[in-house]
Amino acid sequence: MVKFMLKQVSPCPVCHGQKVIQHPAWAEYWKTHDISQTMEQINAWFGVNYGYASAPDEEIECGECDGTGQIESETDLREALAVIQAERENQELSIFFPTKKEG
Ligand SMILES: [Zn+2]
Repeated sequence: MVKFMLKQVSPCPVCHGQKVIQHPAWAEYWKTHDISQTMEQINAWFGVNYGYASAPDEEIECGECDGTGQIESETDLREALAVIQAERENQELSIFFPTKKEG
């Protein structure tokens, strides 16, 4: 039987489509520092805490989506149609059997 695949493209849940995320070391840095530090002080902090010669870029490529900002997935078209059909049937039934709302 021939399979038809339905491609779903949605924004990456980690970077929200921005393609980049904040370097985790920078996230740690900002927990205890504000913008008053000089570049020398910043570089020194990254050297002491992470062994970097200088501070890395604050934004790095999102590893979840490999920097594309999108997550792609595939679903068998027959399965997708079955889910849609089931939802439609549930909606039609709910006209006759409304779900009881709390409160
Ligand atoms: Zn991402």
